[in-house]
Amino acid sequence: MTLYRDEGIVLRTQKLGEADRIVTVLTRRTGRIRAAAKGVRKTKSRFGARLEPFTHVDLQLYERRSLDLITQAETLRPYGQQLVADYPRYTAGTVMLETAEKLTAAEREPALRQFLLLVGGLRTLAEGAHDPRLVLDAFLLRSLSVAGWAPAIDECCRCGARGQLRGFAIPAGGAVCARCRRPGAATPAPPTFALMLALLRGDWETADRSEPRHRIECSGLVAAYLQWHLEHGIRSLRHVARESCPPYPDPHPDGRGGDAGGAEADDTTDHRERV
Ligand SMILES: [Zn+2]
Repeated sequence: MTLYRDEGIVLRTQKLGEADRIVTVLTRRTGRIRAAAKGVRKTKSRFGARLEPFTHVDLQLYERRSLDLITQAETLRPYGQQLVADYPRYTAGTVMLETAEKLTAAEREPALRQFLLLVGGLRTLAEGAHDPRLVLDAFLLRSLSVAGWAPAIDECCRCGARGQLRGFAIPAGGAVCARCRRPGAATPAPPTFALMLALLRGDWETADRSEPRHRIECSGLVAAYLQWHLEHGIRSLRHVARESCPPYPDPHPDGRGGDAGGAEADDTTDHRERV
């Protein structure tokens, strides 16, 4: 048996037998792992408290043929305690954890950039300096980008034109110019495009100045884009307050094929095929 150390964010826990748990962790060096933690469901287990979702932990593990075994856990930052008291921040954080798990499809495949995005996102959320909606959308846009699915925002995804962006076509890959826009595509306000770009680039000065209606429109587009790109969707997204977002419902309620951003039978290039 080999012993190893790694740090990570606890994404999820599941019951295992009478007193144990399976803990899913996105680690800095090893990628996403599932490991067993013994005895953590017994009353007042301090070890167990360190292995709750959102916690940034330093772990020591035994590598085993099936599930690795967690032998030590030290809390680095208890983000869960900071988020649980505030519903908008907590639900935004829940979406981050679920997205990080879905975007790291393979276990034990290093995903350092995704790990750093998650740590940064949870820290920013816990600090409370920005609207949780903006923090979540920044995380989602950058995570999609790291996964190779960045939406086009400042150029037309069909012809590459940089001006006159009028629509947002989700299956085509993002912004479309006036010439390439087909009927049915969403038509975000220009400041919404500016907000999306600011969030992707980490320009908080611009993002914090944005108006509520543009934040709402941005959230709706980012959510629809994310759902389109993830096979089974992000269940926790429905708990995030997204008032007045009926233009962007579940993009494919019957599995696939529905399209909040304007699908056309003729040229709906599904750009997931290209990545
Ligand atoms: Zn175009």
